[in-house]
Formats: sequence, C-alpha cells, structure tokens
Amino acid sequence: MGEIICQTCDSTIEHFEDEKVTKLYANKCPNCANHTNENK
Ligand SMILES: [Zn+2]
Repeated sequence: MGEIICQTCDSTIEHFEDEKVTKLYANKCPNCANHTNENK
C-alpha cells in the first residue's frame, strides 16, 4: 500500500497499490491548493 501525502498539511491525499509501504510527498493536496501560502 502506498500513500501520497501532502507536504503542506501531512494528510494523506490518495492511496495506491504497491508491494511495500511507500510514501510519496505531493506539493499540495486539493484542500491546500485552495488556500494561498498563508500558513507558511
Ligand atoms: Zn494539504
């Protein structure tokens, strides 16, 4: 099981099939993309 994680809020955006546990960091989840960088 792999996970795509938001770099901004550390929440899991999406899961994908994988043989091992993998975490990939995406720049922003759709939720964070709706906000500007105000939380930086
Ligand atoms: Zn996020």
